[in-house]
Amino acid sequence: MEAAGDEETDAIFENEVRAELSVVFEGNSGKVLVPWPSSVTRRWHMAAADRAGSLSTRGTITGAFLSAPGLGRSFLGKALRSTIDWAVRDWMRMVSPYGLPTRQTLFARQAADSPVCSLPGCGSGQQTLAHLLLRCGNPGVHGACTQAHDRIVSILKRGLSGVNSSLRWRWEAKVGDVWPDVSGLEEFALLTPDGIGVDDDKRRIHVVEVARTMDHEGDLLSRRGAEKLWKYNSLCQALKRAFPDYSVVVRDFVVGVRGSVPEDRWALHLTALGVGRGEQRRILTLAAQGSVEGSWQVLKAWRAESASTAGTRPETGSGRLRVAGRRPGC
Ligand SMILES: [Zn+2]
Repeated sequence: MEAAGDEETDAIFENEVRAELSVVFEGNSGKVLVPWPSSVTRRWHMAAADRAGSLSTRGTITGAFLSAPGLGRSFLGKALRSTIDWAVRDWMRMVSPYGLPTRQTLFARQAADSPVCSLPGCGSGQQTLAHLLLRCGNPGVHGACTQAHDRIVSILKRGLSGVNSSLRWRWEAKVGDVWPDVSGLEEFALLTPDGIGVDDDKRRIHVVEVARTMDHEGDLLSRRGAEKLWKYNSLCQALKRAFPDYSVVVRDFVVGVRGSVPEDRWALHLTALGVGRGEQRRILTLAAQGSVEGSWQVLKAWRAESASTAGTRPETGSGRLRVAGRRPGC
């Protein structure tokens, strides 16, 4: 983390107070401002998150977010401690309303002429945080978004492989490739669920789907899960017809862009797939961490794309958010 100070040395607290993380040395040649090493900056930010957590009953945003029940936030707290500095900083900005200078935020502050996303290849829809993290049509941003999703799939894939010997897994395979000669599945041949697990002993087919979604409200997570169930409903019916001896279950693994996880639902699915409690905790923590880091990668792509197209960097009105200027293409 040699250059953490390059990106930003401000710590952002809930009350919008910013502190410069640097030390002033006074010597013969006058005052010298020396930035603190990134390890100190990181601890500073974690202390800010902890402080916000302990004040949650008084309604701070980060604290309220971390203490919401049933959404895996204890795993998230743990995950943030092993997440890299820059991702944690972006996480804190994502939790704070208007913490990031999206076009919509800039427009609201009269610092942009339109709230519409102006990135190449997109140009439709208001550039909100949700737009950037989940819907932006810019190839760079969209690519990072796909990677964020795939990150969670890999965590599940690793966590589930080898757990139950009677389960055979196919990951990111087309239905037509998994069952090439089965009639009745033709119209689903090109459909690619994130995972398909076949348990011949228990005569059960598991269709695994991973989805990332916004998570400022808990019910967004369950709504997204319901969408996935609906999307795969007709495939499930066709599979039941093709394999009458088997039951078919969709396992929806939804994770929020800020690292929220609907704990009960994940536990239900993971238990059914043969994962023990200890391993479940590990997977939940990794998923929370993976989603936070995935969102950070998306925001990084957004900054790079904004900088390369407009010739300017996205900045706040105060000019205090210094972003990504010195790290092109990373
Ligand atoms: Zn866009």
